[in-house]
Amino acid sequence: MRIEVLQPHGFCAGVTGALGKAHKLAESGEPRIYCLHELVHNELVVGDMRRRGFVFVDDPGDVPEGAVVLFPAHGTSPAVRAKARARRLRVVDATCPFVERVHKAARDFAEKGLGVVIVGKAAHAEVRGILGEVPGAIVVGSVAEAEALPDPGADKALGVVSQTTMNADEVGEVVAALRRRFRVESTAAVCGATKERQDAVKAFKGDALLVLGSKTSSNTRRLCEVSRVRTYLAGTMDEVRALDLQGVELLGVTSGASTPEAFLKEAVGFLRSACAGA
Ligand code: SF4
Repeated sequence: MRIEVLQPHGFCAGVTGALGKAHKLAESGEPRIYCLHELVHNELVVGDMRRRGFVFVDDPGDVPEGAVVLFPAHGTSPAVRAKARARRLRVVDATCPFVERVHKAARDFAEKGLGVVIVGKAAHAEVRGILGEVPGAIVVGSVAEAEALPDPGADKALGVVSQTTMNADEVGEVVAALRRRFRVESTAAVCGATKERQDAVKAFKGDALLVLGSKTSSNTRRLCEVSRVRTYLAGTMDEVRALDLQGVELLGVTSGASTPEAFLKEAVGFLRSACAGA
């Protein structure tokens, strides 16, 4: 079996920036550092942060007054920020700049009086953060949902934004479906890192693909979704060791934007030595 590591793969600029802030905090001598939700959606990263002493919480109310709290890369709603201010928490904000842009676009559309639509998955933390900016926004997750969207009323236009880690083609299809029915202003697009990793997966010509990353990571799951060959997802070395790759001649390997490079190297090393020993 030959192995081809797809390029680009792995950490994006947003995750690298967030982890840089976390590492700096870990070395700052603070006795206890809190992190609101997972900093990024990867179990290996979160496990490593726990070992470095980070405490994960779901609400600023669970952080002692005046303590340091790290906000996650996928964004935080204004209500949560206000709660952190009220508790005089020392906030280190690791929100990715691309997510901040989506928050601003949603606010701008709302201020212009447009009906705001978020193309994304309603349960995802990034979408909940955007909804916090514009509580009346509607979340649309598919073309079918776009086609079923109630008319917002006489001549009212829609302002459309999107979650940064969706399937890029699906975002385009949903926006096109909305344009067929409504007057639409749109900034909806996935971020560059998401698009580049999806494009590399779609262009892969081998017979199977291994995507490394957590099942809780939206961008990782989307890589599986856009793949055009038989696809495996593994989040740990135990899962890599359990793969049955019999008959695969050319295996592509890629990783989500929150997956550490060290995991990819270990997985590829294991697979290469397993092939050599076969
Ligand atoms: S996937 Fe995109 S939006 Fe999310 S952290 Fe990375 S660069 Fe930022």
